[in-house]
Amino acid sequence: LEPKEEFHHKTLAVDVMRPRRSDPPLSALRESGMTVEDVERLISDTTYSGFPVVITQESQRLVGFVLRKDLVISLENARRYQNGVVSVSAVLFTECDPASSPNALPAVKLRSILDLSPFTVTVHTPMEIVVDIFRKLGLRQCLVTQNGRLLGIITKKDILKHMAQMANRDPDSILFN
Ligand code: ADP
Repeated sequence: LEPKEEFHHKTLAVDVMRPRRSDPPLSALRESGMTVEDVERLISDTTYSGFPVVITQESQRLVGFVLRKDLVISLENARRYQNGVVSVSAVLFTECDPASSPNALPAVKLRSILDLSPFTVTVHTPMEIVVDIFRKLGLRQCLVTQNGRLLGIITKKDILKHMAQMANRDPDSILFN
């Protein structure tokens, strides 16, 4: 009898990812349509180390991942040094400006701080494989998708907590250290 084996195969990325079903949705940024104050509010309302960027709220299609610290520095710099940047200025992670009228406020362009290829797995990926990828690639977080829609995030700490829970049930099953 090998309950350990069975457990490994049954735990999937969807079982470890956040948010949990009862939690508020993932805090993500939209690649366009947000203002400086929208992004500043998201930063001050949360403590997450990073934020996925999606095309639209409806599509939840992933564009990239931005670290909180890079976002904070870039917004501070834009406020301080970029002419004409105010609270209602647009924040853009897009490649080029959507057609803007000549008298529009200057936008804060942040594509350069975006990781355009964040690691992603699907909800069905076995945790055994996720753990292996974290160890081999030295990841801090990975994103979880289903049918091309962003659904969640798994951080290294989430995995360590999950491993600790598993170890409580079965001390032989530690995979990640
Ligand atoms: P850590 O897991 O190292 O504490 P974070 O502070 O980034 O890293 O994440 C805290 C918790 O919130 C983790 O459980 C993680 O899965 C989750 N989380 C991380 N980023 C986000 C986000 N943008 N939206 C919602 N939940 C997130």
